[in-house]
Amino acid sequence: MFTAPFTFTSEQERLREDVRTFLRVDCREDLVRTRRAHPWRHSDLAYRGLGERGWLAPDWPAEYGGLGLSIVESAIVAEEMALAGVPDSARVNTVDNAGSTLLAAGTAEQKAEFLPPMAAAERLFVVLYSEPEAGSDLASLSTRATRDGDGWRLTGEKIWNVGAFEADYGVCLARTSEGRSKYAGLSLFLVPLRAEGVRIAEVAGFNPETFNRIVFDDAPLTASALVGAEGDAWQIVNEALAVERTGVYFYGHAQRWLTLLTGFELPPRAMPEVDRLRSDLSAARLLTWRCVDLLARGEDATAAAAAAKWWTSELTARVAALVWSVREVFSGTETITPRWEGSVERIDGLPTAGVELGVSLSEAPGLTVAGGTSEMMLETVSAALLDDAEAVI
Ligand SMILES: Cc1cc2nc3c(=O)[nH]c(=O)nc-3n(C[C@H](O)[C@H](O)[C@H](O)COP(=O)(O)OP(=O)(O)OC[C@H]3O[C@@H](n4cnc5c(N)ncnc54)[C@H](O)[C@@H]3O)c2cc1C
Repeated sequence: MFTAPFTFTSEQERLREDVRTFLRVDCREDLVRTRRAHPWRHSDLAYRGLGERGWLAPDWPAEYGGLGLSIVESAIVAEEMALAGVPDSARVNTVDNAGSTLLAAGTAEQKAEFLPPMAAAERLFVVLYSEPEAGSDLASLSTRATRDGDGWRLTGEKIWNVGAFEADYGVCLARTSEGRSKYAGLSLFLVPLRAEGVRIAEVAGFNPETFNRIVFDDAPLTASALVGAEGDAWQIVNEALAVERTGVYFYGHAQRWLTLLTGFELPPRAMPEVDRLRSDLSAARLLTWRCVDLLARGEDATAAAAAAKWWTSELTARVAALVWSVREVFSGTETITPRWEGSVERIDGLPTAGVELGVSLSEAPGLTVAGGTSEMMLETVSAALLDDAEAVI
């Protein structure tokens, strides 16, 4: 049984109820039909509706399209989105990542121009960090931005991006100078994705959402494309990633998939793992909300976030492994159709759970990699524990 590390206020509980009703009642059929047509794509009805209500970025100030609330309300929306099966990469990329970056480090003009349409679901942004030779060791990247009059020229290659074909801008990390260490001399730029010198191509991969490669061929950028101080991006990047790493989406996915799976009649041999997963999910939710609580109080959440990201994303992989291990429960039709006809919910004559459980098999492995791999999360946790141990000694 889950016990919250803190109690939610009655306003926060009401927000949760309102978001839940909107997603699970008002958007339910649209979500299922959209997923059937494009397994990874967000439903416009849900995404725009969240934007219209100020729920995409409830923690942003009202002048930028938010509700002036806190990260707790933002995490409540994230949790409800995942528990309702709403694809989340548009919000993660646009609001949690690019938006938090602009909110923390953007100029007044950048905030006024970009944050309101992001919060209103009118503009999508993506993240352009990883490179063919720089993922976990991101600071070793080789994309370069060089001065060109008042502006810049960008050259290099980014990979494993999701969403570039649908988005307007990418937040791109590039080297602008050689610093004292590899972490210095990196800068962030807002790059228009349909502009001279920018090429986007799909990359084959296991992920249900298409991966893209983006090549910058001496792409011109204006002076106003720079976000934050030149050469000082490393801390900004890590702070923005901390929000994604609270684990709240990963926990929600794992919980959702287990709930969908246990709607079917499972063979007795699956039940011990179902029970273990149920208790491990309670622990996962505690880790997640402990991390949100630390962030809400302005405390350092680096190690808590790494622990939460590791545990919750590994749980998604365990649930997906369970889905695979009981595949005899499903027949091998186009979408996964249950043999057991019990109380499984149907829309248009097809079971609603089928597509999502099928997608879980290809989505879960990537969740243990995206936003920082499990090995890197464990390294962060162990470094923090060693620091604590040294402080005690
Ligand atoms: C679904 C998904 C969506 C993504 N979306 C985006 C996106 O929108 N934009 C973007 O920029 N990137 C995105 N990525 C890329 C992601 O951030 C990188 O895949 C991730 O940082 C790992 O980098 P890599 O793939 O280069 O693997 P590598 O860093 O090469 O790692 C390979 C393996 O080696 C291990 N390893 C590496 N270094 C160490 C070490 N020091 N100690 C122990 N083990 C180590 C890793 O844990 C991993 O198992 C996405 C990835 C996925 C899976």
